[in-house]
Amino acid sequence: MRFYSTNREVPSVSFKEAVLKGLPDDNGLYMPEVIPRFTDNFLKNLHRLSFNEIAFHSANMIVENEIDEITLRSIVDESFRFDVPVKNIHDNIHVLELFHGPTLAFKDFGARFMARTMGHFLRSDDREITILVATSGDTGSAVAQGFLGVEGIKVMLLYPGGKVSKIQEQQLTTIGQNITAIEIDGTFDDCQHLVKTAFLDEELNKRLNLSSANSINIARLLPQSFYYTYAFSRLEKRNTKIYFCVPSGNFGNLCGGLLAKKMGLPVEGFIAASNINDVVPQYLETSVFRPKKSVQTISNAMDVGNPSNFARLLDLYNGDYLEISKDIKGVSFNDNQTRDIIREVYTKYNYLMCPHTAIGYGGLSGYLGTREIGIYLSTAHPCKFKDIVEPIISEEVEIPLRLKKVIDKKKRAIAMTNEFDEFKSFLIETN
Ligand SMILES: *Cc1c(COP(=O)(O)O)cnc(C)c1O
Repeated sequence: MRFYSTNREVPSVSFKEAVLKGLPDDNGLYMPEVIPRFTDNFLKNLHRLSFNEIAFHSANMIVENEIDEITLRSIVDESFRFDVPVKNIHDNIHVLELFHGPTLAFKDFGARFMARTMGHFLRSDDREITILVATSGDTGSAVAQGFLGVEGIKVMLLYPGGKVSKIQEQQLTTIGQNITAIEIDGTFDDCQHLVKTAFLDEELNKRLNLSSANSINIARLLPQSFYYTYAFSRLEKRNTKIYFCVPSGNFGNLCGGLLAKKMGLPVEGFIAASNINDVVPQYLETSVFRPKKSVQTISNAMDVGNPSNFARLLDLYNGDYLEISKDIKGVSFNDNQTRDIIREVYTKYNYLMCPHTAIGYGGLSGYLGTREIGIYLSTAHPCKFKDIVEPIISEEVEIPLRLKKVIDKKKRAIAMTNEFDEFKSFLIETN
C-alpha cells in the first residue's frame, strides 16, 4: 500500500516510510491510497474471531505485503495483551472499555502498535533511533510503555516539572530500561520547543537518528479502527442501526472509527462528543471550521482548539460536508454537565466513568433512539482522574493494583533547564 499526504504536495510513500517519517514534508497527514473493503464473509463470521484475529486481518489489508504475515501477527499479539470488554450499561446503551492496557487509557492501542511496527522496520535496517517525546501527561507514558524493551530504540520523554499530576509523574519516571525521563524546569510549550529545535539542529541530526512518535503517525491511527470492528462483533443484535459515540479531542479516535466504516463495517453513524472545546461540533452544525485557543476543562485530554486529525476526517470524505454531516453528529458538554453525568450514571447504574468517558455517555444517551443500538468509547480508567471524580460522587475511588505498584516505585528523572544547549549536550553524551 502507498500512503499519500492529505496536502498532496509530496509524492506517496511506502508504509515503512510513512511510519518512520511520521509527518510528510508538506505538513499534511499520511492516508492509505486505497481503503480496502472487508469481504461479506469476513463480516458474517466476525463474532467467531478474537480481538487479535480481527486486528491482524484489518492491519494486513492495509499494510498489504510490506510486513510478512508471521511478523505482523506477532506485532499484533505483543501489542494487544489486554481485555477489550463491551458492557451493557442499560437498555440499548453499551460501553467499550479501552482502558485495560498498561497506562489505563485508550492511547495504549495506538502507541503499542506503532512502537512495535517502528521497531520491526528499524531492526531490518540495523538502525539505532532516538525518539523524542514532549508530553503534558498521558500521551508520553503510553508511548514510552509502547517502546519499552523494543530493541534499537531509545526514548527521551520531556515533561514539565510540577505540571503533571503525581500519578502521571510516577508513570513517566519509573519505566526504566530504554526510556529516559527528563524533567524540564518550564512549561509543556518549552518541552515541545526543545523537541522541535532538536529536529531542526543539523549537528544533532548528523550524529543521531531522531524520530518523533507523535499522535498523527499512521501506525497509531490503524489500531484505533480495530476495536470498532471488534465491538460491533460482540453485539447480540448486529442487524439494527448501530451508533458509536466518541469522546474527542484531536479526533484520532473518531477517525479510526470512520476508517472502519469506510472499510465496510455496517455502522449507521457516529457521534462526536467534545467538551467546550467544540470546534468540530460547531463545524458539523455550521459547515465552518474555525480553530480557536483551547480552554482548560476537567476532561483535559480533550482540551484541543485545533484538532490535528481534522484533515484526515475531511480527507476520508473528500471534503464533502453533506456526507460528513450525514455520518457524524456533534455534541458538546461543559464541566458542570459532565459532573452531572458522572454522578447520575454512578447513582443509577453503579458505573463510574472518567470525565472524558462521561462526555461519551452523554452524547450517546441524548441522541440514541429506542430501536437503535449505541456504543460509547471509554477512553480512560476513572482512577486516573481520581481528584476530579471523588468529590463528584463523594466516595473514594480505588486504584487498581497495577497503578498502585507504579506509585510506590522510585522516581528517576534527569532535571534540566529549558535551555536547548543543555538538552543537546545531553543527547550527544548519552548517545
Ligand atoms: C487522548 C484522549 C482523548 C481524545 O482522543 P482523540 O483521539 O485525541 O480525539 C479522550 N480521552 C482520553 C482519556 C484521552 O487520553
